[in-house]
Amino acid sequence: MAEQSPRSGLGALLREDLRGETAYGAPQLSVRAALNTNENSYPVPDEVVADMLAELAAELPGLNRYPDREFTALREALAAYLSRGGTPVEAGQVWAGNGSNEVLLHLLQAFGGTGRRAIGFTPSYSMHSIIATTTATQWIAGKRSDDPARLFTLDPESVAAQIVSADPNIVFICSPNNPTGTAVGLDVVEAAYAAAPGAVVVVDEAYGEFARAGTPSALTLLAGRERLVVTRTMSKAFALAGGRLGYLAADPGLVDLLRLVRMPYHLSTQSQAVARAALRHADLMLSTVGVVKEQRDRLVTELTRLGYAPVPSDANFVLFGGLADAAVTWQALLDRGVLVRDVGIPHYLRVTAGTPEETTDFLEVLAALGPEHL
Ligand code: PMP
Repeated sequence: MAEQSPRSGLGALLREDLRGETAYGAPQLSVRAALNTNENSYPVPDEVVADMLAELAAELPGLNRYPDREFTALREALAAYLSRGGTPVEAGQVWAGNGSNEVLLHLLQAFGGTGRRAIGFTPSYSMHSIIATTTATQWIAGKRSDDPARLFTLDPESVAAQIVSADPNIVFICSPNNPTGTAVGLDVVEAAYAAAPGAVVVVDEAYGEFARAGTPSALTLLAGRERLVVTRTMSKAFALAGGRLGYLAADPGLVDLLRLVRMPYHLSTQSQAVARAALRHADLMLSTVGVVKEQRDRLVTELTRLGYAPVPSDANFVLFGGLADAAVTWQALLDRGVLVRDVGIPHYLRVTAGTPEETTDFLEVLAALGPEHL
């Protein structure tokens, strides 16, 4: 944790607006079931590893040169992958970075900054507000429904009203939303876009591939909306979190503006090669999505049966409530080898849907804790 040491006096050198902040980061512990960061539990298949190695072998002698700054082949592969969803996407509409976190950083560097505002609807992905803060963008925490029947959802009227009153330069809509798992309808994105005629609207679809049937992607709305951005990542469904490759689709003109803020050659030759190889095996890399979704649905069913209150999820994780004390249950699970996430919502924890064995492990350990955790 990057807390300033009072003895060193270094804290006094830090930017005033960062003083007292703590660094983001979930524990990285060696446990039997690591279900706390929404990774894909399945390793990269041997066949893909072999192709990655072949691709790297061809590229490594050329490491004396900088990588392709425009990552042209990778952008074409990402555009082809996105187009499989039914909405054609061209390479010029695609931008990528070291994880979608870097893509979000580029968006805030370009469209946020001093004297500017960003709004997101909390609880949501905490890096949206953290990156806003680190880019000196004022963060406005919008609200989600607290109606028990529609808990944590967003509706078009409320989103539009909150945007009008915040008058932001950037709007974040996370769908499916981390940590709640809830997704929005396209009407919410349309309402946000119309309510913020001077803002860039970012739909963070990091978990888009896990959406249930009938939950649409905002990619279908890109045509004719030059201020709309959809961010995606290879870290989740694509099982490539360690590869650090996130991307976005938007109007080519907006993509062009991001060149103003990126570091030259920000995507290494190795990152590009590994991601290209993975994309060549998209079907295989995504072949675990079905089983992960089954485990997600199983978690919802079984948590309900155990007396907890899971939130319906379109992602690869489930937020569940009804806990007497989330921190106590989090520690009790960890003591028994199961690591989940305490996202700071009182009485709730978030668990990632992993392999069937990991799900069984989690459910059995939770059940064995007994009703005093309820
Ligand atoms: N968006 C959301 C909603 C996330 O949950 C995450 C990762 N937890 C990210 C973006 C960033 O992921 P990455 O940088 O690995 O692409």
